[in-house]
Amino acid sequence: MSIEGHSSAPGANVIVEHYCEHQDADGSRCKEWGGWGNSPSPAVPTRWWCWEHFPHKTFEQEQALRRKLAAGGGKSIQ
Ligand SMILES: [Zn+2]
Repeated sequence: MSIEGHSSAPGANVIVEHYCEHQDADGSRCKEWGGWGNSPSPAVPTRWWCWEHFPHKTFEQEQALRRKLAAGGGKSIQ
């Protein structure tokens, strides 16, 4: 899936399909919706992840997620 040519400029209210880009070791893509985007600069296209795979969480957020996953044994979709 490609989002080439998509503008990620602030204020661009363009709704695009962007699922989590996480890939498992076996090459299967995560099927969660990528609701969490991160771009290091406006020149770099935004990358998207689900909350579980979002690599820019704070330590506390990561710990909270791990507790939640351990307790529930599953995922919740916001
Ligand atoms: Zn994911």
